[in-house]
Amino acid sequence: MAQVQERAKEGKAYIGNLEVAAQLAKESLIKGTIAKVVDWATAFSLWPVHLMTSCCGCEIGAAWGPRFDNERYGSLPWVSPRQTNLIIIEGTVTKKMACTVRITWEQMPFPKFVIAMGACSLDGGIFYNSYNIVRPWQVVPVDIYIPGCPPRPEAVARSIVELQKIIRSRGVASKWVVEGVRKDLKYILPKEDLCGWRGEGGGYS
Ligand code: SF4
Repeated sequence: MAQVQERAKEGKAYIGNLEVAAQLAKESLIKGTIAKVVDWATAFSLWPVHLMTSCCGCEIGAAWGPRFDNERYGSLPWVSPRQTNLIIIEGTVTKKMACTVRITWEQMPFPKFVIAMGACSLDGGIFYNSYNIVRPWQVVPVDIYIPGCPPRPEAVARSIVELQKIIRSRGVASKWVVEGVRKDLKYILPKEDLCGWRGEGGGYS
């Protein structure tokens, strides 16, 4: 560390020790301007993967259509999970769909976020006592809930704006890049259970 400080005084970088260099890079990512840039860039690049779980999905079409135009928030619906960073759970999650939601979430790169939409995703909605549904927070870590049956496109737009605020005010994206995991993952069900409900072992991702 002393060598690093000496070199820093001279206005030069010490790159002889990669571990130290990695530690410094991490520290600057947590505290410095780079963290703000990461959070700003992530907040305005929220790309939801196309994953319709239930009838709330109709409102997603309207939300990103020309009238409500959610793209103006930097949010672009995309097809491949590997190029997206947001899942909008569109209503009910059945036990058979839960495995698909988890696999899709696992395929997305960090940092990634989840919005759960509709009364069904809050507490089951009209399927409250049904034998075959699961709550979204048991499947993936949920950041924002949108109430309604179904929520209007304006509410979907509001959820995007609120998520942007959370990411920028709490430094969620930069922290996740540094830490590599989210602490609330412990609440979600094991993938083997989710995929077992549809008769699969869950041994792929
Ligand atoms: S909240 Fe209403 S619109 Fe959305 S999935 Fe449930 S029943 Fe369908």
